[in-house]
Amino acid sequence: MKRRSEILMPVVFEVGNTAERSVANWRDSKPVIERRLCTNCLICWIYCPEPAIFMDEGGLVQIDYEHCKGCGICAEECPRKAIKMVMEDV
Ligand code: SF4
Ligand code: SF4
Repeated sequence: MKRRSEILMPVVFEVGNTAERSVANWRDSKPVIERRLCTNCLICWIYCPEPAIFMDEGGLVQIDYEHCKGCGICAEECPRKAIKMVMEDV
């Protein structure tokens, strides 16, 4: 049996560094906002663990897919169920 130190594992060297790089290839599904249900309340922004949700110049909540890792927390927490997780094209 291999010792823990012998197993190659991905390492995050700096805390919070996903703001500086794309995590788009981490996803197998992505959040899609259904506009007719969204009230732009920003609860998804509060819960998102990444810098992946923002409000555009028109006041609409948007997803930045370069920084979205596809965890689905936004879809779980949206009180209007306005976010659906959709499988990525393979
Ligand atoms: S939590 Fe839901 S309703 Fe609120 S801004 Fe996000 S997607 Fe829209
Ligand atoms: S799926 Fe996760 S990372 Fe992507 S926008 Fe939703 S909460 Fe943020």
